[in-house]
Amino acid sequence: MTEQFDAIVIGAGQAGPALAVRCGRQGLKTAIIERHRFGGTCVNNGCVPTKTLVASARAAHVARHALDYGVRLQGEVGVDMALVKARKDGVVRKARDGVRAWLDGAANVTVIEGHASFIAPQRLRVGERELAAPRIFINVGARAAVPDMPGIADVPFLNNERIMHLDALPEHLLIVGGSYIGLEFAQMYRRFGSRVTVVEAGPRLIAREDEDVSDAIREILAGEGVEFRLGAQCIALQRQGDQMAIGVACGDGPPEVAGSHILIATGRVPNTHDLGLHEAGIQTDARGYIVVDDGLATTAEGVYALGDCNGRGAFTHTSWNDYEIVAANLFDGASRKVGDRIPAYALFIDPPLGRVGMTLAQVRASGRPALVAKMPMSRVGRALEMGETAGFMKIAVAADNREILGAAILGVHGDEVIHAILEVMTARQPASVFARGMHIHPTVSELLPALLEGLEPLR
Ligand SMILES: Cc1cc2nc3c(=O)[nH]c(=O)nc-3n(C[C@H](O)[C@H](O)[C@H](O)COP(=O)(O)OP(=O)(O)OC[C@H]3O[C@@H](n4cnc5c(N)ncnc54)[C@H](O)[C@@H]3O)c2cc1C
Repeated sequence: MTEQFDAIVIGAGQAGPALAVRCGRQGLKTAIIERHRFGGTCVNNGCVPTKTLVASARAAHVARHALDYGVRLQGEVGVDMALVKARKDGVVRKARDGVRAWLDGAANVTVIEGHASFIAPQRLRVGERELAAPRIFINVGARAAVPDMPGIADVPFLNNERIMHLDALPEHLLIVGGSYIGLEFAQMYRRFGSRVTVVEAGPRLIAREDEDVSDAIREILAGEGVEFRLGAQCIALQRQGDQMAIGVACGDGPPEVAGSHILIATGRVPNTHDLGLHEAGIQTDARGYIVVDDGLATTAEGVYALGDCNGRGAFTHTSWNDYEIVAANLFDGASRKVGDRIPAYALFIDPPLGRVGMTLAQVRASGRPALVAKMPMSRVGRALEMGETAGFMKIAVAADNREILGAAILGVHGDEVIHAILEVMTARQPASVFARGMHIHPTVSELLPALLEGLEPLR
């Protein structure tokens, strides 16, 4: 017998639980289906555990440099990976249990565990059960891509999920992929005490960023002893006794690097292949992302796709913002659009990179006359006081009306300070508002007006 609901949410990641709770609050009889772990990627294998591990790695780093601050420690700094993992597991468990308890306590919400797939428009199968609803919200997320490279089937490798089970230190961690996820793990494991080599096919790290950002990040990580093999076009994996090796033959340097563990961090693919989308007339693009319009509606009546699976964002905050857009449009009479949001994200190395809006490369490509300013963190009093002067702040504004076009803050507290710029952009105010406010001393943010005083034409 088909169980009839008013709304069904598939996936309890970032957008799904909040939307299910909101539907329930609106008086809709709602089901939320989760096939694995409540909280999805962010809570179990993404943001929460990585930032918890980053904090442990930073503690080790600070302890090693304690004498720079006049603090003497007795003996060597040691990292106990079993304890590091236990701490991480505790934080994750609390977050996961919190999501589950929230859903269990929500009015009009039924929690169902199992794999959901469409069997017809507006109808799903979950194990033996058949469910139907006029509104279905897909929040199935993404998983680590397995790149098609020689040897990948013959060599055991880690991904962002498997590395979460490590409770011993890899002697030499080889990381394939020099982008956000790979770089966070690179610094973290280096600080735990592993030798770390990042193998990247492109000529520079995080190619989506401006070149000065990529270069500065490489310098920061290399300064801590992370090794790099960039331009490694012919990556191939092989076993060498008890070692793993990565052939990087086409770049400069030795033809291969060998290590104890390999982490593959080469991107993500959406969890859409086993959803029966075809049965419901839901279109995907060539890479498997669900095609959505600006209100996140799919090609099927009453079906929406939110979060990583729609290809319109790859972050927890984009997934959450998808929820806000869909809920506001359905229940609050709003007409919010995903295209209106300002791109913002951070890379949580230390010091972090906070990013908002366009890169300089994108500003140039837009053809819009612009001004740009850049300031090294060594000019920021707070950074000097903290002994953390690596990086820089950079901002681009439109030459005509001083609209902020984009900014990058690679430096201590960069992930927080970037929000000051993001809020001004969101309020559609010009950069000149920074000069009117009184800023707290000593902070990184207080230097934003001084940064803007240095605006020069972008060449
Ligand atoms: C290592 C790493 C670090 C990250 N760090 C950050 C960070 O610092 N900041 C940030 O903003 N983002 C970060 N991200 C990205 C972030 O985790 C994702 O963007 C976010 O989790 C996407 O949320 P979502 O709601 O789209 O999907 P998910 O959180 O992936 O949730 C999808 C859920 O759907 C379930 N599901 C899938 N298919 C089905 C099905 N057929 N039936 C039932 N259930 C199903 C899955 O089990 C999962 O629980 C990181 C990602 C990784 C991998």
